[in-house]
Amino acid sequence: MEIINNIILVSYLVSSVLFILGIKNLSSPKTARKGNFYASLGMLLAIVATLFDQNVLTFEWIIIGLIVGSAIGTILALKVEMTGMPQMVGLLNGFGGGASTLVAIAEFYKILYNPNIPVTSMDAGTIILSILIGGVTFTGSLIAFGKLQGLVSGKVIKYPGQHPLNALLLISVIVLGVLFVFDPHNTSYILIVTAISLIIGVLIVLPIGGADMPVAISLLNSYSGLAAASTGFVLSNNELIIAGALVGASGIILTNIMCKGMNRSLMNVVLGGWESAGTVTTASTTSQKGSVKSIDSEELAVIFDNASSVIVVPGYGMAVAQAQHAIRDLTNILEKKGINVRFAIHPVAGRMPGHMNILLAEANIDYEKLYSLEDINDDFPNTDVVLIVGANDVVNPAARHDQSSPIYGMPILNVDYAKTVIINKRSMNAGYAGIDNELFFYPNALMYFGDAKDAVSKLVTEIKQL
Ligand code: NDP
Repeated sequence: MEIINNIILVSYLVSSVLFILGIKNLSSPKTARKGNFYASLGMLLAIVATLFDQNVLTFEWIIIGLIVGSAIGTILALKVEMTGMPQMVGLLNGFGGGASTLVAIAEFYKILYNPNIPVTSMDAGTIILSILIGGVTFTGSLIAFGKLQGLVSGKVIKYPGQHPLNALLLISVIVLGVLFVFDPHNTSYILIVTAISLIIGVLIVLPIGGADMPVAISLLNSYSGLAAASTGFVLSNNELIIAGALVGASGIILTNIMCKGMNRSLMNVVLGGWESAGTVTTASTTSQKGSVKSIDSEELAVIFDNASSVIVVPGYGMAVAQAQHAIRDLTNILEKKGINVRFAIHPVAGRMPGHMNILLAEANIDYEKLYSLEDINDDFPNTDVVLIVGANDVVNPAARHDQSSPIYGMPILNVDYAKTVIINKRSMNAGYAGIDNELFFYPNALMYFGDAKDAVSKLVTEIKQL
């Protein structure tokens, strides 16, 4: 028995190291696959070690759970579109939070039906914490999923006394939690805390605009880690504590990166219910002074033929159109002509972190060609042609100088400093922030209208015919 316990502990230690290596490697696209492998291996080891722990369920139940869970997970993963990833992640966070709540409730009933089990304040406190964070994560994530899936209104919902009500509910949970610590066999405290936690999750996520949901999901991801870590304390399982803490910490770091990329404060997110940029202003195509110049694929092919350096800036529209393969074809044909082609990746281009990197990798575009905002922003003045494919907010120069703009202060790609800027999109419509883009009216800008996949494919055909 002693030996098995030691093997379990060592396995937990090794799997924790694998999780840490996984996260480290996931921080760069070049090593991300390796990172994914390390993390999966760590999880496999953790699961196998836990199965050998005599305290867990019988093998029959574990196998049933494994089959049902794997079947649902496989079907969902195969069916989900790349653009539907944020809500899929949201749903998974929710299940994590729900699982933490259920485990904590189960532990409570174990205590209730076995009065001989000694209950410390630490045990009672962690049960409450697990139920609270898990419950908030569960319903919050379901609402986030519903908003992104169009099942719940994506509008910003505000009502009088919103923050005081949330604060009151939170204070009630804390008070009930303290009472539970002194009376850990009282079922009412647990039931009321569970109900309030589920309500808080709904109330803090419901007011957030649908377009801001990816940041909320990243934050809920962090919450799900904290819920798992507190469940780890409930079960005295070191592995769960470590894994939960890693998810909690990496989730909050990611949220912070997204907030910086979008010029929002973390506090704004934590309090919930911030204004959705997408709903505060409406796009107007007539308010800009000057006129836009549009270009067709034939003329554009000549511009590319005469260029020696090209930077492609992908955005959300590339994901919608699934234009990454056409862009790869364009890159190949330009490179054959001796043109230097690079990609500028904004940290919040698309609708989830790493969105562009994943799509470009799927089309086998070399990681070496992908440059982050900091690494490429100084190169735009020396670039002949910038091709923007379905990006809008991340290249809006208003962020640099217009203090009244909702995106003022957001770091942007300085595409307007290049000699010629080609903007491919379907219309003059706004992007996520719902604001006009003055770039389209700049003297060095040319609009190339059309669905990104069709438009880039047409361009490739024209260049081939030159
Ligand atoms: P935007 O949302 O600003 O713009 C996308 C543009 O793509 C639209 O203007 C649209 O114009 C065009 N488009 C849509 N479909 C197509 C198509 N089929 N073919 C060609 N063009 C198309 O995207 P960006 O990537 O520039 O910016 C991302 C925005 O999302 C930022 O504001 C960011 O803050 C926000 N955000 C990002 C998150 C992330 O983690 N990445 C998370 C949350 C928010 P048209 O309709 O005229 O075609």
